[in-house]
Amino acid sequence: MRESKPTDELTRRKFLSTSAAVTAGIAAPLIAVAQQTPGNSSDSHTGKNETQPGPRNATLDQAEPDSVYPPETDAGGQPPFKYPFSFAHKRIEAGGWTRQVTVRDFPISKKVAGVEMRLIAGGIRELHWHLSAEWAVMTAGKARITAVDHKGRAFVEDVNEGDLWLFPGGIPHSIQGLSPDGCQFLLVFDDGNFNEFETFLLTDWLHHTPREVLARNFNTPESTFDRLPTRELFIFPRDLPRPLEEERRQVVAETGAVPNSFAFFASKMQPTKTTAGGSVKIVDRANFPATNIAAAIVTLKPGGLRELHWHPNEDEWQYYVKGMGRMTVFSAGGHARTMDFHEGDVGYIERSMPHYIENLGDTDLVFLEVFPTPEYQDISLAEWLAHTPSRLVDQHIGTGEEFLRGIAKREAVILPE
Ligand code: MN
Ligand code: MN
Repeated sequence: MRESKPTDELTRRKFLSTSAAVTAGIAAPLIAVAQQTPGNSSDSHTGKNETQPGPRNATLDQAEPDSVYPPETDAGGQPPFKYPFSFAHKRIEAGGWTRQVTVRDFPISKKVAGVEMRLIAGGIRELHWHLSAEWAVMTAGKARITAVDHKGRAFVEDVNEGDLWLFPGGIPHSIQGLSPDGCQFLLVFDDGNFNEFETFLLTDWLHHTPREVLARNFNTPESTFDRLPTRELFIFPRDLPRPLEEERRQVVAETGAVPNSFAFFASKMQPTKTTAGGSVKIVDRANFPATNIAAAIVTLKPGGLRELHWHPNEDEWQYYVKGMGRMTVFSAGGHARTMDFHEGDVGYIERSMPHYIENLGDTDLVFLEVFPTPEYQDISLAEWLAHTPSRLVDQHIGTGEEFLRGIAKREAVILPE
């Protein structure tokens, strides 16, 4: 029996209905559904050749339909470009918790590492610094952040869900959860090898400096430091900070405030572009002067598509904030793989590898694209073809020139327009 080639949509629906049956405890081998589904009868998808009579992880399979049942356009060859934060070790402290996804966990993620952190109200991420720059977005609640730059200029700010910050490498800083319920946030570092558990901590440094040197450094008796902790604090609970204006007045004495705020109130920013399919906010050095890390905050409505594109200047690190979708990454040599993404997953696409992201759920899909470079850049397939002689393109793909001349001259970013 030969019918028209099944579309991905059909195979997807077939798989989803099967996995739902499996979850419900109903014995429904793939073959039974395959036989009932018209269009699922090409040579490579006979149903029988796709059953899995041996062991299976039904829970994981349900979340990964594009791995269990790849689109026929997939060819493999791409290393995994997804790592769920759910796999990471969670370090739990009295003031909150943290976990990280680095190149040590996720080998493709060479240039960027990510950290999730939760601080209870009053919970402090200890005063510290590190070599990498730290880009952050608040994913829940409210926090007080502080920093001091190389000229002693001070920064204290309160940030809410959806707001960002950027602390350049080597700049000391802190984060504290505010009431009523502290906060959760995502940190992104421009070094895949970053380690949140090995940063320069105030208490750790002082603990490893001779007392008499500390005393001489501050011209004070050694007893001043009698209560110095004997191990790092890292994340610890304390009283809430004083009112913002009061703390700000205190820290700017003589040296003033940093010239470019380390905070960016993305929660109040108008989208850079809105279409019928969703919206995008692009935050890079053009509108956030303190940053050396560019980002796009993308919302795809149900059915929305982040169009086929690539980034010529840097690797892309992704974080899925809400909803579910899938992404196919193609690379030279005919490699292609599709993976599914859910809340809390990290995605990684090496520089110039083309990809798209599709919302497969019935709620908004919200995700971040973060780049370890100050300037956001992309090239879309449509933009490329629209600005190449139509005869030349037609000679490649045979669509007819009428179709090619009708492609919008400016990239859509999010479809439908
Ligand atoms: Mn930090
Ligand atoms: Mn992208």
